[in-house]
Amino acid sequence: MHHTPLQNCITVQISERVRVHALRSGWVQVRPPHREYSGIEALRFPSILLNGEWTEKLPVWMWLIEHPDGTFLVDTGENTRVHEPEYFGEAKGDAWVNRKILQFDIPQEEELSSHLERLNIPESRIDAAILTHGHLDHTDGLRFLPTSEILFPKIEWEKPFGVAKTTFPSWLKPRFITHDTGTTLGDLSLSDNPFGAAHKIASGLYIVPTPGHTLGHQSVVLFENGICYCFAGDVSFTERQLLANTLAGIAISPEASRETYGHFKTLAARIPLVYLPSHDPESSERLQRAQTLVV
Ligand SMILES: [Zn+2]
Repeated sequence: MHHTPLQNCITVQISERVRVHALRSGWVQVRPPHREYSGIEALRFPSILLNGEWTEKLPVWMWLIEHPDGTFLVDTGENTRVHEPEYFGEAKGDAWVNRKILQFDIPQEEELSSHLERLNIPESRIDAAILTHGHLDHTDGLRFLPTSEILFPKIEWEKPFGVAKTTFPSWLKPRFITHDTGTTLGDLSLSDNPFGAAHKIASGLYIVPTPGHTLGHQSVVLFENGICYCFAGDVSFTERQLLANTLAGIAISPEASRETYGHFKTLAARIPLVYLPSHDPESSERLQRAQTLVV
């Protein structure tokens, strides 16, 4: 069987005016019950911590959107420094947990800065980096963005879950994002927005609340050419997981995760939707083919 290795940068012209780059920032392995857990609720975290196996390598995707209203990045990926023993500084507990449950392989040529250089897009051209949540494989590329505006979910800052703040750049002063119940989503009427709230970034580009994995988790949705592209962070590991209704083991609220799953499916019944989570090996291909979620 021929196996095409995943490309680390895939550029898709999704319409005449919008281009999206799927940028892979290396690989992560997790413990199997972290990827999927269906056991006793109280044993969720111990099961992950005590497990001695690793999944196969999963991609760490970030997304660069070139839009007439600006250039926007969704998540910032990992960086090579995560491999250094002192990376977490004084936060010994964060270091212990993160090293116990995550194993990274981050090549330098897949750091955000390398991708931007190759694409000939200087950091100064990025109008805003939107973070889906505060976990390090989504925030560690912040150090390459000293002048961009950083949009961070407000709840995630106030009620962090698994956020290792010592890994944030010392200069970080994010703009905190809240979602407004009075903001319409694309052409949908107010009551037709399954997420119940939204924050508009640009024409057709929104941030919506998608809690479950963490309390403040948010996703970015882009309406273009009659399709809704959903940059879904860690809502689920894969599209398959969303469709099967199985949950990842790291979720501060499994109930909220299930509700969020339902919101994506409701939206997919209203408009063709391309679902793009951060660690799905098939995300870049779905973007390329505009392959929509069938619910
Ligand atoms: Zn996460």
